[in-house]
Amino acid sequence: MESENVLQIVYALDFAACAHSTQRRKGGKREPYINHLTEVARLAAEATNGTDDKLIIAALLHDVLEDQSMHVSYEMIVEKFGKEVADIVQEVTDDRSLPKAERKRMQVMHAPHLSQRAKILKIADKSANLESILKTPPLDWSITRKREYFDWAAEVVAGCRGVNAWIEAVFDERLNRAKF
Ligand code: ZN
Repeated sequence: MESENVLQIVYALDFAACAHSTQRRKGGKREPYINHLTEVARLAAEATNGTDDKLIIAALLHDVLEDQSMHVSYEMIVEKFGKEVADIVQEVTDDRSLPKAERKRMQVMHAPHLSQRAKILKIADKSANLESILKTPPLDWSITRKREYFDWAAEVVAGCRGVNAWIEAVFDERLNRAKF
């Protein structure tokens, strides 16, 4: 990999760690949020055999527009990491003006229309979330709530299939373990 690409990945890692520094995962272990981002980036990297640095960077930044309190804008990502990366991040970001149930419905609706890279990233994100719920579920989540999440994630992923067999297999393996 070109040294410039390596630098950009490390800048993105640093940027994401700073932006999410006060956040924790919802799971019982309250893991630092950056662990989620590095897992999604690792999955995206493995899915593409380390050949797609833009996708790895977008994976590290994929939740940075989600919460306005982080004060990160699309334009800021364009400026620091380029339009290609910013567009992928934008694609996988929910419309924050909508209520949560509506945002979840929109993810299912939009999935088939995402770009190839955004589809891989979506599947990697849902795979990471499945593993977190399996290993360290939020303490207040009932079995029903977990099942609802798994069903919804499977629906979103169904709309993303056909882009990358490896990441789909990772998701399916985790979904199988989630069937209880
Ligand atoms: Zn995520």
